[in-house]
Amino acid sequence: MEERSHFDLLVIGTGAAGLSSALGFIEAAAERGESPSVAVVERSSEQERGGATKGSWANLMVNPEGVVDPDVIQRVIDSHPEVDEAYFRTLEAAAGEAVDWLGKHGVTLDHTPTGFAMESTYRATVGGGQAIVEALTEAIERYPAVSFHYETEAVRLRLNGAGRVDGVLVRGADGLLRVLSAGSVVVACGGFEGNYEMLTRYVGPRAGEIVPVVPAVRNNVGDGLRMITEIGGDTAGQFDMLHVQLVDSRSSKPDAGIFGVPYGIIVNKAAERFVDEGSRTFEGLNESLAFEVWRNQNSAAYFIGDAQTFSIPGFEHLNQTDLAPVEADTIPGLARGLGLDPEKLEATVSAFNSAVQDGTFDVSRCDGKRTTGLAIDKTNWARTLSEGPFRAYPVKTAVTFSFGGVRTDVRARVLTPGGTPIPHLYAAGVATGVWYQEYPGALSVLRCVVFGRIAGREAAQAARP
Ligand SMILES: Cc1cc2nc3c(=O)[nH]c(=O)nc-3n(C[C@H](O)[C@H](O)[C@H](O)COP(=O)(O)OP(=O)(O)OC[C@H]3O[C@@H](n4cnc5c(N)ncnc54)[C@H](O)[C@@H]3O)c2cc1C
Repeated sequence: MEERSHFDLLVIGTGAAGLSSALGFIEAAAERGESPSVAVVERSSEQERGGATKGSWANLMVNPEGVVDPDVIQRVIDSHPEVDEAYFRTLEAAAGEAVDWLGKHGVTLDHTPTGFAMESTYRATVGGGQAIVEALTEAIERYPAVSFHYETEAVRLRLNGAGRVDGVLVRGADGLLRVLSAGSVVVACGGFEGNYEMLTRYVGPRAGEIVPVVPAVRNNVGDGLRMITEIGGDTAGQFDMLHVQLVDSRSSKPDAGIFGVPYGIIVNKAAERFVDEGSRTFEGLNESLAFEVWRNQNSAAYFIGDAQTFSIPGFEHLNQTDLAPVEADTIPGLARGLGLDPEKLEATVSAFNSAVQDGTFDVSRCDGKRTTGLAIDKTNWARTLSEGPFRAYPVKTAVTFSFGGVRTDVRARVLTPGGTPIPHLYAAGVATGVWYQEYPGALSVLRCVVFGRIAGREAAQAARP
């Protein structure tokens, strides 16, 4: 094993968190006229860099003024006694500036409303997460004292005799280990969403069967969590919960998401409804429904609509699969196409249709148009499924990220269980655990950018003599 280089900062990961850390560090140092050296190590190849961020829509939960919905922040804070309120208050306070910073680096946002009822205001990143990865990488690469190490995996954090992190043991594409020594290290290598063994260990039996929503998720195998807990860092976040979504189970397209469920019905293999499809808006329902489909429905369900459902203006944008839905002129015919019991599905749809109440259907708000008298009623957007052709997507559960990770403070410093920061060690993004019960959507990239920049700036500050 041979020590090849020293860097003032070493960042692990090229997603939104890692790139924001590296650039935050470079900019903070440049403000003082300094040009310290930076290494960024990344498991994937240069072509595949960018992690889950690259495949992300990168919607950001800010209104056009850059303000995060305060009700959502409060809901997150109230969701569990372990939630770190200071973390979310920092996110809330820094979000606008982070959005401006992305803008300064050429990332543009779009605030065109979806037209569908939503639980909070989003701004879409034009070009999605790929635009963020490209813009930040370009800005970092303009800096002369930076080196990217692709196909290089961080294996272990190195401590000096006093317990301060001073480097990382890495394995290159040649299979050989070497140490990159560093003034500070930022761990930004995602969660354990790509690790079958850890998913089973933390989330439960069969969790490893949950497919990754995009292939890059497979690179995130909990290395940050493992490396940090090995040296005494603490954990946070709900380890037995994941951010998941439904995808077309027939498709091999990355992110073949199916989000239109609130406007139709969903049934299991027994051709029975098992949730109130109208309990929440499409983006609000997504995670809990997909988790339920995995946990209690053996990761198989069928979203069903009729001609009215599929002709809702813009409905195609809620379903990103590359495959056409299964289609039939009758419900029994649709059941046969899906491999379900035709009589049972007809009975389910007919009971549902009989329970639908009068009211005005309105996709743009929770319209209160509901069913009554069913074992599980649908409380919004309930219309009879009566106009052929009938269409359906078979769906399964896909994982985006894990909730459990390492514990940091608002300065992105990694903490021990006693609350002591481990000197010169920072973490950001999905590697850090913050969510309990529910992830409300559109806050993941935002928190990666906010706390990635904080980690970089803190490391720059710590590097000062
Ligand atoms: C399809 C999709 C849609 C999404 N939509 C949204 C959205 O609209 N809004 C939102 O906020 N969030 C969204 N997300 C989630 C969000 O994009 C991610 O949670 C976030 O971008 C993760 O960023 P990160 O930097 O923590 O991790 P990543 O972007 O995954 O980066 C981690 C990097 O670390 C590398 N790595 C892992 N282990 C090692 C190791 N040992 N050594 C070296 N490198 C390593 C990986 O290869 C990867 O490149 C979406 C995600 C997906 C996949």
